[in-house]
Amino acid sequence: MTPMQVPLLDLKAQYAGIRAEIKAAIDEVCESQAFILGPRVEHLERQIAAYCGAKYGLGVSSGTDALLVALMALEIRPGDEIITAPFTFFSTGGVIARLNAKPVFVDIDPVSFNLDPSRIRGAITAKTRAIIPVHLFGQSSDMDPIMELAEERGLYVVEDAAQSIGAEYKGKRCGSIGHLGCLSFFPSKNLGGFGDGGMVVCSDPALYERVKALRVHGSRTKYYHAFVGGNFRLDALQAAVLGVKLNYLDGWSEGRRANALYYDRAFRASGLVEKGDVATPTAAYKNGGDVHYHIYNQYTLRVENRDRLQAHLKENGIGCEVYYPLPLHLQECFAGLGYSRGSLPVSEEASRQALSIPIYPELTDAMKDYVVAKIRAFYKLS
Ligand SMILES: *Cc1c(COP(=O)(O)O)cnc(C)c1O
Repeated sequence: MTPMQVPLLDLKAQYAGIRAEIKAAIDEVCESQAFILGPRVEHLERQIAAYCGAKYGLGVSSGTDALLVALMALEIRPGDEIITAPFTFFSTGGVIARLNAKPVFVDIDPVSFNLDPSRIRGAITAKTRAIIPVHLFGQSSDMDPIMELAEERGLYVVEDAAQSIGAEYKGKRCGSIGHLGCLSFFPSKNLGGFGDGGMVVCSDPALYERVKALRVHGSRTKYYHAFVGGNFRLDALQAAVLGVKLNYLDGWSEGRRANALYYDRAFRASGLVEKGDVATPTAAYKNGGDVHYHIYNQYTLRVENRDRLQAHLKENGIGCEVYYPLPLHLQECFAGLGYSRGSLPVSEEASRQALSIPIYPELTDAMKDYVVAKIRAFYKLS
């Protein structure tokens, strides 16, 4: 018998429900033959800004470029220091290095996987210009202490909300809490396009104007360049797809949350949590009531014998992934920064223990039960 197949993400299942609407939206763009920025992108910018609780949105070419253009708007210069978390996707640190600024990595909180605010103060120097909290896996960072410290020391806060559109911190949506918020529409994010895309959201008119110009080579008037920017534009085809999908986003995120709750209960009932083989990712928001509205871009366990469990799940037709196997401070390209193994131990331990399992909204109960059963079997609890 072939085993049940449970992919990590099934975008075909999502597409099946919205095919006709998406095709109509794409067809409209084809008929218009207007592909770069334009009214569809502007419409999406207004919708996403409102969705995030920010005044402005600017469609850009990717989540990475959203971060890059946000730092460019803040006039980050060579030698400036930017504080961020090392347990994240590469972009967060990469954009800092691309501006010849220096990433300063601060360790994470073991429960939320996000920047530990209590460690930031000690990393601030006279060269520090900004903090980039990453809202990892769909859960907000602890923003109050970060914003207070930033205000006290005159620092900018750029939120990496690539995985967290719609996630909330004390009723505020991720992306609208810091000075600039950066979203990604990479296909595997909760709001995913049919290719690369991203958005910068903010409420400061001066920052908005600056990002808007930087996105088109630093020009406010065509062919006149006040400063050097790049081509960081979102195209109309992506905006058309995203505009359709945005109407479904809350329902999809609710579906992910319902799946997370199902897993939480199933893992607790399984005996695995008690035995210490598996820790579920829920404690951070449960501690303080539901103040962190988690959108579960990933449902990330901490597990014993992670690599062997991953192989076992794959053999049984279950998609799972390690986000992220090597924290940024130990990446070869950042060797010159002088970190060594053991320097940020909480992130390093997370890299050894984290395993993300399928959480997408179309999962059936039978699929979730199968995933939990196979994990129990691995730890010989069945
Ligand atoms: C996906 C992601 C990015 C980059 O977004 P792209 O659209 O892939 O360029 C940045 N930061 C985090 C945390 C991400 O998950």
